[in-house]
Amino acid sequence: MNGHRAASVHKKLRHQHRRMLVRKLSESPAFHVNVLGGGIAGLCTTRYLLKYSKDCKVTLIDKEPDLALSSPKPITSYDEQVSSRPHRSIPSRRNGNVLCPSLTVPWTSKSMWKEVAEPAIRGAFGRRPAAAGMPSVSFDWPTLVKDRRFWSFAAHFMLQKFAFGRQDHQCNRSILEYNMRCLDDREDDLIQGIEYGRFAQGTLSIDGTVAQMDSSGDVDLFCRQLIGSMRTAYGDRLDVVAGEEVETLHSRNGVICGATTKATDSSDRRLRTGDAFVVALGNASYPLCNAMGVACPVYPAKGHLVTVASEIDRSHNLTLHDDGGGGFGYAAPMAFRDNQGRRCYRLSGFVDFELHVDINHRRVNALVNACRKYLPDLEVVDASCCHRPVSADDRPLIGPTKVPNLFLCTGLGSRGWSIGCASGSILASQILDIEPEIDAAPFLPSRFRPSI
Ligand SMILES: Cc1cc2nc3c(=O)[nH]c(=O)nc-3n(C[C@H](O)[C@H](O)[C@H](O)COP(=O)(O)OP(=O)(O)OC[C@H]3O[C@@H](n4cnc5c(N)ncnc54)[C@H](O)[C@@H]3O)c2cc1C
Repeated sequence: MNGHRAASVHKKLRHQHRRMLVRKLSESPAFHVNVLGGGIAGLCTTRYLLKYSKDCKVTLIDKEPDLALSSPKPITSYDEQVSSRPHRSIPSRRNGNVLCPSLTVPWTSKSMWKEVAEPAIRGAFGRRPAAAGMPSVSFDWPTLVKDRRFWSFAAHFMLQKFAFGRQDHQCNRSILEYNMRCLDDREDDLIQGIEYGRFAQGTLSIDGTVAQMDSSGDVDLFCRQLIGSMRTAYGDRLDVVAGEEVETLHSRNGVICGATTKATDSSDRRLRTGDAFVVALGNASYPLCNAMGVACPVYPAKGHLVTVASEIDRSHNLTLHDDGGGGFGYAAPMAFRDNQGRRCYRLSGFVDFELHVDINHRRVNALVNACRKYLPDLEVVDASCCHRPVSADDRPLIGPTKVPNLFLCTGLGSRGWSIGCASGSILASQILDIEPEIDAAPFLPSRFRPSI
């Protein structure tokens, strides 16, 4: 979609939406939003809706029964964090721990031949990568060729890269920097009250320079405490529904009138109704949107995670690279120490287009060996993997859709933790018809065509 068309679609949507919102607010004091998905995207959208409007009530729905689990005292060790709530390969519960405003360049702006296209083509013909070592991106072709969603994703990627992508939108800088302002907002007592293990002072790059604005922090600690703090701050304006899986959306007269959910521990089904619906389901966003004819080219891109402990204290995030200087991951120092008093670090990296969550030990070893250059004494604590919800142009999908009361906050990709608050704030502003604090145009879902 070219810039002019995107702008006019957005204008029309805003007009429809404003009429709906004004009518609703004049009829009833409470505007009820159902936020589907309690990861960082859904939680932050909920938070800013409740912050920006006292007339707004939110029902937050997630399939995980332990979503709302909150501990009366703060978590003080990594062992306690791990044993008190499993990560279940949900990226908002365990990820690379890097807050990375320096990671601005989306995939569509990179050349990508060496990193993606060449390994993909060689892999498709059963051949090994040309370069020594292993490619940082891999493709499970036998599964991918049968997956219609992958081809839709690939087609959207090509269109954004070569035809419709706007030059002035080829950057994630604005949303990344805005997110750090949200996290550091001294006047936001609720966010300032969350202890999420913010630790690193910058990221050490391969060339020895330090990206000063970067930091590290634990997304799981942030999400857990955010729910608890919102309950205290907003009382019965927030209803957290844990253990209900959203199955379908229903529309009547062109608007969403409800969502059917199924209890995860029984066969009970419910119809959840409300004035507006936000899809923030990470990789599970696509099927719901697709059924509504709304384009949502978000695909799971698997990454590996390793937690290690070391006697060595580093205060920077470290860039992990192979012998040829090719970067493929990060090591982020955590605020936690292990039970022997050693500093914990979270290593993360690689992109594999494969749908299972089996651990590839070659990937784990590559991360560990690259990290040994900085921390020779490291010991592995645990290893896991999960999928990033990556959009076809590697920029988040935030905003209204062609269905007037259906909104998206998804496709946060490999920066979801680094743009979570900003994404929630932008979407809440759009839903409540307030001017967002940064230009929201680059992130509008209408840049993607539903017909592909
Ligand atoms: C290996 C790896 C490393 C990463 N490292 C970093 C990093 O260092 N820095 C950074 O900024 N970002 C990082 N990310 C990205 C970041 O973690 C994600 O972008 C972010 O967590 C996505 O959040 P989300 O809320 O959109 O989705 P999710 O975290 O997937 O949350 C979706 C929620 O929806 C729920 N759900 C799903 N389906 C249903 C359904 N049908 N009904 C009800 N509920 C449902 C799930 O239970 C979940 O709680 C990393 C990601 C990976 C995979």
